[in-house]
This record gives sequence, C-alpha cells and structure tokens, in this order.
Amino acid sequence: MTVAVYSTPLRARFRGLSTRDGVLLRGPAGWAEFSPFWDYDAAESLPWLRAAVESATRGHPAPVRDSIPVNVTVPAVGPDRARAIVAASGCRTAKVKVAEPGQDLDDDVARVAAVRAALGPAGRVRIDANGGWDVATAVAALPVLDRASGGLEYAEQPCRTVAELAAVRRAVAVPIAADESVRRAADPFEVRRAGAADVVVLKVQPLGGVRACLDLAEGLGLPVVVSSALESSVGIAMGVALAAALPELPYDCGLATVQLFERDVTRNPLLPVNGELPVRPAVPDDLAPAPEATAARWRERLADVARRGGIDLEALA
Ligand SMILES: [Mg+2]
Repeated sequence: MTVAVYSTPLRARFRGLSTRDGVLLRGPAGWAEFSPFWDYDAAESLPWLRAAVESATRGHPAPVRDSIPVNVTVPAVGPDRARAIVAASGCRTAKVKVAEPGQDLDDDVARVAAVRAALGPAGRVRIDANGGWDVATAVAALPVLDRASGGLEYAEQPCRTVAELAAVRRAVAVPIAADESVRRAADPFEVRRAGAADVVVLKVQPLGGVRACLDLAEGLGLPVVVSSALESSVGIAMGVALAAALPELPYDCGLATVQLFERDVTRNPLLPVNGELPVRPAVPDDLAPAPEATAARWRERLADVARRGGIDLEALA
C-alpha cells in the first residue's frame, strides 16, 4: 500500500488546531485518508483506519446522486464577518457556531440574524453548540435564536449528553441534531432509544467507513447530515461517497471544509461550486511533503493502529 503524509497550516484555528496533517493511503481501489486527531489514542483511531482501508481496497458503493449540496460554516465571529463569509460562499445553507466560551447569547443572536440577512428568506440556518449549554440554558436560548434567525433548520448538539439532548428536544420546537452523541458514544443507538434527536450527523472516518455509516443510518432510521473531520480533499471524497450513496439526503452536508486548509493535496480540490460538491474521487497530485518529523510520527502511528486492529497493511497492496 502506498503511503504519503500531508501537513498544512489552517487559515483559522479550528478545534484548537492551527495545523492539520494526516496519512493518504493508496490501495487497489484508489486513495483514502487516515487522519485521526492527535488527541485520539490507538483504540479510538482504529475506526479511522478501518474507514481508510475500506475506501482504498473496496472502493465505494454506487452513488444515487451526482452532486452534494453543502453548508458554509460560520465560526464564532462578529456579524459583519459572518455576513461576508455567507455572501462569499454561494451556499444556501449556513451552519453557525454558537455557545462559544467567552461569548453570550447576544453575540449568537447578532450572528444568526446577520447570517439570515445574508442568505435571504429561502436560505437555511442551522446552529452548532458543540455541547456548550446545559439544559436550562439551551431551552432558554433556542426560542430566542429561532426568532432571531427567522427560523432554525435544527440545533446541533446543544448539550453534551444523550439524556440532556432528549430533555431539550421535549421542551423546544426546534429540531435537534446529534453529532458527538453518535460519534463518541459507546452505543450510537442510544440516541434513538432516548428520543434525543431528529437528525444525526455522521462522519466517515470516526464511524469506521462508508458502509458502516450506511448501516448505521439504516439502523437509526433518522435523516443524516454527512460532515467532515476536517480532512484534505481525499478524506472529503470519502464523505462525498457516503452522501452520494444514502437513499435519502434531505439536508445539506457539512463537507465544505477544504477552504479551511492553507494548502490542499490536489490541484482539483473538492470545493463547492454554487453550494454543491461533485461526486468524484480526489487524487493527491499536488502534495507538499510533510516535515520529516511529522511524516515519521504518522508512519509510526499508522503501524501502531494497524497492529492494534490486526490489520496487515502490506497484504492490502
Ligand atoms: Mg458538530
């Protein structure tokens, strides 16, 4: 199996990171990405490797659509910056970060109102609190943000736990989406049993691959939003493959994140045009070599996670 390591600065800090790096693997079916964040241990990184190995060796299920509508992501910026980001995106849907530490509800209100003004009445506004509220705060904030935004499509992960999501969902009219509650839970089906969400966010690498996500989507019986784990175009293509194969895709996906990279790995990046990504693979034809220390660290990590999972990478070539 061919292995290459990429490393790029990010245009803005994200998830506390200013650099993103990872491994690209080429198998008989094409290129795939293995890029668990550095705070994930070998056990938590194993689904990421299974996802990459599946894409590189088995390829992807047949698509049922040829383009994927995507949202623009608006970080916890002021209203003027928020308006400019949305206006420049060409997307009809915006995902707006709320509940940022150090900010208050007035900041969130100003941001969602600016985003609605930029999108117009036909646009869709969703928010992501990344688990930042307790139940009482979420129940108080959501109707306010629903009004200020001219109507929220849904609120993603308003609180941390499944039980809290279920309590918020019972108390407010705004639909609730589960992200961390599916991805990092011991049992992703707990979300459905608890009645905790109207929508689930699925990410290919942390959930073990395109086929595992298709099975999970079918088992959950809830609408899916496919999102990225801040990958290069090669990893985004794995998310695109999932979004393309889902029987239903009622919501725009969160796969327009290559613009956060200072430098992608290909001359033909998976960036949205008129708010949509094409359904196609990405080939790393413009890979800037990572610093040797970074490359060595990734080779060691890849071998470690493969050993943990009993995966023989050499046998897959
Ligand atoms: Mg999220």
